[in-house]
Amino acid sequence: MKIAALAGGVGGAKLIHGLAKLLPPDELSVIVNTGDDFEYLGLNISPDLDTVCYTLAELANPVTGWGRKDECWTIYQEIAALDGPKWFHIGDKDLATHILRTYKLNQGLTLSEITAEFCRCWGVKHPVFPMSDQSVRTVVHTAEGEALGFQEYFVHQACEPVVEHFEFVGIEDARPLPQAINAIEACDVVVISPSNPWVSIDPILKIPGYVESIREKPLVAVSPLIGGKALKGPAAKIYAELGVTPSAWAVASHYKDILTGFIFDEQDHHELEKIERWRIIALVTDILMKNDQDRFRLAEEVLRFCETILNRSR
Ligand code: GDP
Ligand code: CA
Repeated sequence: MKIAALAGGVGGAKLIHGLAKLLPPDELSVIVNTGDDFEYLGLNISPDLDTVCYTLAELANPVTGWGRKDECWTIYQEIAALDGPKWFHIGDKDLATHILRTYKLNQGLTLSEITAEFCRCWGVKHPVFPMSDQSVRTVVHTAEGEALGFQEYFVHQACEPVVEHFEFVGIEDARPLPQAINAIEACDVVVISPSNPWVSIDPILKIPGYVESIREKPLVAVSPLIGGKALKGPAAKIYAELGVTPSAWAVASHYKDILTGFIFDEQDHHELEKIERWRIIALVTDILMKNDQDRFRLAEEVLRFCETILNRSR
């Protein structure tokens, strides 16, 4: 079974980790959001790409889900002691990634080339692709009329400002990564991981070209909301601020035009009928991933569900 999976950061990476345990490298490709990328202390940071790669390399911090395990913070502390910026946390090991990425970008390599080199060094066998080699920057327009860079909103301001709408600067001129389109064309099913639909998945889907190729394939999405709540981050808060009650149904509705199958939590069982009314095939199960075992169990269920969907369409 060949899967092309779309992912953001921490939520998406958990399911990708499970899928990577079950599928060989030629049966799983991962297409990652880079709308969160930004510059900090002169360095090019790609938070979601790093989270996915560190997770697949088993190098991720198991408590936060982002950053490196067994990290040390000498440089962060020294920068803080010099009154430098400290709102974005970069440990020493993580810093090496950003320094080298910046250096290689300045040498003229593309983000996808650099990601492939890093993956080789980290022993990540499954292909991980940035959604595009062109820059797309998520900007949060707030109810107060401010325009905030995504990390400024997400980390510095801890998602407190009320969202009015999102803008993906550069999206019209960005092109899907050709290898990512090839992976979609070669796959049996496209899977949307449980990532934030607004800021982790939309930037991918809104690059001209992705939806057109995804439409040719069955698409399965896993809900990032359980009981109307996000497990981490602002997904539920954003739904509410944009005037939509956060729920599994709201997530399904977000992807409705391209969705074949939807996986959501037992807690939200009562939404089944409403979701099936759109002729979406549903799987109600436990979608909470507290540990590695949960990731592998959910990944197995996702693959079995994809088989069912393929059999139905044959
Ligand atoms: P970020 O870029 O690091 O914010 O990560 P993502 O967009 O990939 O993931 C954030 C989303 O993951 C949030 O909406 C969470 O609710 C969701 N999430 C986190 N852990 C889990 C989990 O164990 N199961 C499910 N279904 N969703 C999760
Ligand atoms: Ca992110």
